[in-house]
Amino acid sequence: MVGSKPIVTFENNGFCMTERPDPCGLVIFGASGDLTSRKLIPAIYQLFNKKFMGSHFYIIGCARTELSTDEFRKKIESALMELNYEPVHIHEFLTHCFYTAGDYHSPDLYKRLKKEIKELNQTFQCRQNVLFYMATPPYLYVPITEGLTKEKLPRETIENRGFRRFVYEKPYGRDLESAIQLDRDLNTFLSEHQIYRIDHYLGKETVQNILMFRFANSIVEPVWNHHYIDHVQITVAESLGVGHRAGYYDQSGQLRDMFQNHMLQLLSLIAIEQPSTFAADQVRDEKVKVLRAIEPFVPCNSQYPCIIRGQYQAGKINGEMVSAYLDEKGTESASQTESYLAARVYINNWRWKEVPFYLRTGKRLKSKVTQIAIVFKSVPHSMFYPLKESDLANNILLLNVQPDEGISLKMQAKMPGTKICMTSVKMEFNYRDILGGKVPEPYERLLLDCMIGDQTLFWRYDGVELAWQLVTPVIDWWKTNPEECPLFYYPAGSQGPIEAENLLKLEGRQWLPI
Ligand code: NDP
Repeated sequence: MVGSKPIVTFENNGFCMTERPDPCGLVIFGASGDLTSRKLIPAIYQLFNKKFMGSHFYIIGCARTELSTDEFRKKIESALMELNYEPVHIHEFLTHCFYTAGDYHSPDLYKRLKKEIKELNQTFQCRQNVLFYMATPPYLYVPITEGLTKEKLPRETIENRGFRRFVYEKPYGRDLESAIQLDRDLNTFLSEHQIYRIDHYLGKETVQNILMFRFANSIVEPVWNHHYIDHVQITVAESLGVGHRAGYYDQSGQLRDMFQNHMLQLLSLIAIEQPSTFAADQVRDEKVKVLRAIEPFVPCNSQYPCIIRGQYQAGKINGEMVSAYLDEKGTESASQTESYLAARVYINNWRWKEVPFYLRTGKRLKSKVTQIAIVFKSVPHSMFYPLKESDLANNILLLNVQPDEGISLKMQAKMPGTKICMTSVKMEFNYRDILGGKVPEPYERLLLDCMIGDQTLFWRYDGVELAWQLVTPVIDWWKTNPEECPLFYYPAGSQGPIEAENLLKLEGRQWLPI
């Protein structure tokens, strides 16, 4: 349900449709944590600063840690100052922030919250609109939602005419069974239209740009299929290790942490058929169709593997020595958890017949980069004798999601010189050039969408389940047959395990360098 009528303005020779959210309160559970201070509060502050929020809003931070509202405000202030935000509006922003400590399993917390929400709704004239954000460990999602339900806080009634929305952070389940169970539990308290399963990758401008690029340009669509595309490479590489999340990560691994969610989202946007409108369910219907068409992973075959997993060893990144995964504080000494994953994926439909999608993601790789490379087929015939077709480099369309957000197209061009003299050149555009480096943070976009009531960029229950359906057999198979799909090691600062090269090499292709 989309609220106010959008305003269309023309900016930078383009047009922007702006929707302003209705006044609303935000209740953040896990407010003493890293996500709240590093991402959520700065994003809300930016929305406030950019005048999306007006003055009719409030934030209640909630966690077990005992803090007064003043202490919470000081914490927020220093988090914002650390991010070098201009302090002009910080003091006004802080007057909208409150804190309530409590035990998530105690009914008393929800009674107090109910009273506070009622009072603040009146003070800030928020009409009964409330967004509840679960930034806690996932095992608390159900107890918190249940506690709120006992106080009837999720109720959207005709009398109160307000919305009650619930945002759930990743991970959403650990496997297919737990994801289905989580959905069942939440559905006893909430309706699907109230549930926002967040994947912050979808809030990145460059990820959203995939749909604009594909469906707002008439030259793209005719070549976006197996007739012209040889293969696709999707890379989500990080140079960081597991850091302070080691305890959590060691129980999770790259398949659950990155592949099941972010990677499959990127894949589905690249492979999607055209939705007839940019409405939430139309886009999500098409994404689900892609997930449904993905060929299930077959058990590993060492001669022709379809999935490679790896773990980093000590190595150098940017000239500095970093430790091995097993030496990180919080990992188990003989852990087999994968910090790297590469997979070959086929989508069984008309458009993508026999086009491999190679996906790789890992930690402690050479650099931090998220990119999608669309590698086009070679020309069918070379007229430039003695050059053969295979001598002419393939055209590559590179969608850079981070860090240099933009798009480039590698083409062949004549070099000044002899009659046959050519080289690869790049046509490119960079977001920083147009927007002066001010690409908004994904949480800004996503929080705004939650307030507006637009679920386009959020996972729907069927998408989550299909993604888990695809990866759960792999998790089981690694557990039961580890020798058939061994863990390969790679030095930190490298391109990943050598064995991952084979995924492509066996088919006469190679990874683009990270
Ligand atoms: P934190 O580990 O910082 O935890 C958030 C808060 O939850 C803590 O401040 C703590 O508050 C409470 N908490 C922690 N452990 C427990 C526990 N065992 N029982 C009860 N409460 C506990 O997490 P993050 O802020 O990093 O992340 C929050 C959620 O967001 C997680 O689900 C995470 O997976 C997800 N996420 C985080 C990202 C990030 O960048 N940090 C990115 C994407 C997703 P207190 O003790 O005061 O109650």
